[in-house]
Amino acid sequence: MSHKQRRRYFPASGDNNMDWDFRQIVHIVENVVAFIKTKEVLRDPKDRRKILFGLLSGDNEIWISVTKKHRQRFPAVRILIHEAMHILYPRFVRERDLDRKEAILYKRFTEEQRAFLRNHVPKRTSVREPEDKELTYYPKGLPFAL
Ligand SMILES: [Zn+2]
Repeated sequence: MSHKQRRRYFPASGDNNMDWDFRQIVHIVENVVAFIKTKEVLRDPKDRRKILFGLLSGDNEIWISVTKKHRQRFPAVRILIHEAMHILYPRFVRERDLDRKEAILYKRFTEEQRAFLRNHVPKRTSVREPEDKELTYYPKGLPFAL
């Protein structure tokens, strides 16, 4: 066994603030969320007439709409960033502020960073429907130390 720990490669933009958020999102996506599922039509489990872009529910389950209508303005990675931000900033309750943060991160992450996150989004849509579950768990220890 080698004594050297192999460090994983993470794409970076060179902007420390952006890269800090990027690493937090990667950590959340890889270690905190229960699962990420995509839906062709994502219905609000509280009101099935409502169509959503994304949903965070239960024990950090992330649901993402990949419907054609949404894809251009809100690609899956952008929605993933938004839902991960809800976990990272549980007190960040104003959706409008979060929407702005999501737009900035999505724009300023490099294509390589976006592709890194895209790899975590399942290509096949789920046949399951999200359940109407309250968010029950915000993990302690976030943000994690880099
Ligand atoms: Zn939100």
